[in-house]
Amino acid sequence: SKTDFLSNMSHDIRTPMNAIIGITTLMKNELHEPDKLAEHLEKLEISGHLLLGIINDILDMSRIESGKTTLNIEQMDLLQQIGQVESVISEQAHQRNQEFRVVTTSVQHEHVLADPNRLNQILMNILSNSVKYTPAGGHIRLEVEELPRDAHYAKYKFIVQDDGIGMSDAYLKTIFDPFTREEKSGTNHVQGTGLGMAITKSVVDLMGGVISVESAPGHGSRFEVVLEFPIDTEAALVQKSETDDAPADTSLLCGMKFLCAEDNEINSEILQMLLESKGATCRIYPDGQQIVDAFAKVKPGDYDMILMDVQMPVMDGLEATRRIRSSENPLGKTIPILAMTANAFLEDMQKSKEAGMDEHLSKPVDIAMLEQVVRRFRITPPINSGRSRFMRSAPPPSPFAAKTGAL
Ligand code: ADP
Repeated sequence: SKTDFLSNMSHDIRTPMNAIIGITTLMKNELHEPDKLAEHLEKLEISGHLLLGIINDILDMSRIESGKTTLNIEQMDLLQQIGQVESVISEQAHQRNQEFRVVTTSVQHEHVLADPNRLNQILMNILSNSVKYTPAGGHIRLEVEELPRDAHYAKYKFIVQDDGIGMSDAYLKTIFDPFTREEKSGTNHVQGTGLGMAITKSVVDLMGGVISVESAPGHGSRFEVVLEFPIDTEAALVQKSETDDAPADTSLLCGMKFLCAEDNEINSEILQMLLESKGATCRIYPDGQQIVDAFAKVKPGDYDMILMDVQMPVMDGLEATRRIRSSENPLGKTIPILAMTANAFLEDMQKSKEAGMDEHLSKPVDIAMLEQVVRRFRITPPINSGRSRFMRSAPPPSPFAAKTGAL
């Protein structure tokens, strides 16, 4: 199956890659035609995301297969998590003219201790398949039900149901095997790697849960996942009030000053544009040595936070962080440092933590994710003080504390 997989994979990777290269070439001739440029940029973005998804799946699967995947447990608001999934899937379903509904039944415990990224991954994999394998005009439904358990644990049943093309009995036996896809005319033109379901099953197993599926060709599919999580008795209400205090249309990043290290020129440009689009400013240095030298002269109020690439020439981000933390400049002890790296695996996260970094952002930097992370370090809200202050030890503690790993 690996040989089949490799040949499928080369095709799957080539398709978006060819699109990216082809579209870029077209765009060079359209510099004075904004409408065409906008249309092509959109396609470029879709292809980039597709490629990233494929690459992430391959990396994730190889991690899982080598037994290196563990969970990253933190405080999780289940309904908030479901809300995030809902907004992404609603958008996808809307584009395909499908009806998507989320129903929650008897959810008594909203705050639990769990790995939100992994729960997200399970639900997104199943739901995005429903979107992919359900024709336009079809119906998709996510139902979340809390089942009776005890005072310490909450148990939930997640049901994803669609009225799409369905699967044969023969294929259902192998659906959770890596690299398999059902060969039928309806799916041949649908992009995929055959890894999503295998990853989903492994993650459900890792969480001690159960996944099952019922389906018939032409009659849709029904996936059921049952998971249990410890109840979070000290639910993070403070965090919620913090979340609510920023005006909805102003980014939390607005007015923030970032000191950054990033060696890749294109990535630097993108980072700068993203931060500036949110009203933040930044100074970017191309290697660890230069940011360390610059930091020596930093005065209170110059910067709120450091964004540190990890792999860089001259001095890497880990060494630069160690030097900043032990620097003679006392701000080195308190300024939050976030790692920005393409390697988002457990060992990398531990290495960053040991070096003195507070958090880990995977690249390409997702600005919404950065906003979420930044919120944890804010110790004074911008409304009262005019300007926020950011500090390493702001509550709640960095998820690193409870981490055993995550993507
Ligand atoms: P892929 O990347 O191909 O979607 P997955 O592992 O996520 O890989 O799914 C494996 C295969 O299972 C798909 O190629 C498809 O044939 C089948 N499948 C998964 N979910 C559904 C669904 N909701 N309806 C019909 N077929 C599905």
